[in-house]
Amino acid sequence: MSYKRREFLTSTAALAATPLLASLAGTASAEAPGRKLGVALVGLGSLATNQIAPALQKTRNCRLAGIVTGTPSKAEEWKKKYGLADKSVYDYKTMSRMADNKDIDIVYVVTPNALHLEHALAAAAAGKHVFCEKPMEISVERCQQMVDAVKKAGKMLGVGYRCQFEPNHLECVRLAKEKVLGDVKIIDANFGFAMGDPTQWRLKRDLAGGGSLMDVGIYCLQTARMLTGEDPIWINAAEVKTDAVKFKEVDETVMWQMKFPSGVVSNSVCTYNANGLAGFRAATSRSWFGLEPAYFYGGNRGRRGDGPEINMPPTDQFAVELEDFADCIINKKPTRVSGEMGMADVKFLTAIYESIKKGRPVTI
Ligand code: NDP
Repeated sequence: MSYKRREFLTSTAALAATPLLASLAGTASAEAPGRKLGVALVGLGSLATNQIAPALQKTRNCRLAGIVTGTPSKAEEWKKKYGLADKSVYDYKTMSRMADNKDIDIVYVVTPNALHLEHALAAAAAGKHVFCEKPMEISVERCQQMVDAVKKAGKMLGVGYRCQFEPNHLECVRLAKEKVLGDVKIIDANFGFAMGDPTQWRLKRDLAGGGSLMDVGIYCLQTARMLTGEDPIWINAAEVKTDAVKFKEVDETVMWQMKFPSGVVSNSVCTYNANGLAGFRAATSRSWFGLEPAYFYGGNRGRRGDGPEINMPPTDQFAVELEDFADCIINKKPTRVSGEMGMADVKFLTAIYESIKKGRPVTI
């Protein structure tokens, strides 16, 4: 992840809009009765190191129980830092041995997009629940394979949509659902950052599956789906490339519109070439509401057109999503961030690429 992006995403803040979120905000490190579920992280990159591992320490029902890494120096570092035993440290070829490790309940896949399937399959084969970072995979077919494998193993699959647990987003969903400011009519959602290191996997098609759309455009798609509670039925998209060398293999900037069954229209731009684009606004029949910024790890806030600020108390989105996933496993409840949801998003992202390629709208 580029310096700019990390800086962007790492300020502070958010809030607790459900009982689960409220309990986490207040008692982040409190012990829950019973055993905490063990989580093994696969891929010790930027997100796992800077966000997920620290977040795990704050959950009441999870703990770091293992790591999978291809970098021996990271294994040593993490063993010391988190007090992990040798038996809890794996590389990508030895993941099957997790089957013998009863301390690991959940495998959290945090590798490049096109490796998610391979690592999720290994986890499912070892009899573990799977939590997979977004985008779930790079094609619908690969998402389906993941869904099928986890189902066959009798385990739960979740996708890392942290905004589904972000209290400011949840407040906006409430405003939309309860029509507090009238019906939502038009949604404008945008996200981007200026890509740094030109050698990273995010710019390689075989590992990323796509560029800014797969990486950050997916947040805009999620916003539109969350606020409408609907799936798009029509998509029109175009791509703009200003640096054909850096973005030779993946999209740099994508702009697209979607129509929803209720008549809501959304408009989005995502990019890898500019900072300062990270918000959404919903125009309603009587007013508007929105968040700016909307997609950071903390510090998200917004306003309603009738006056009040939207600025919920801070929480850690990664801790909340993990607590919720563990809670779903413990209480045998479906997760709100299912594999089916992740697969549907990949279907819509694919339709956006199809529209770009065909140079015309596509219906779904
Ligand atoms: P990084 O590049 O920082 O880390 C990826 C890690 O994956 C590497 O450090 C490496 O860990 C492992 N890896 C295994 N094979 C490869 C390979 N061939 N090339 C590169 N790395 C490899 O990426 P991020 O942590 O930023 O992203 C990981 C995933 O998380 C992506 O799917 C991304 O979309 C998602 N993400 C989600 C965010 C969110 O807010 N929900 C934010 C940022 C990312 P090791 O050395 O241990 O093997």
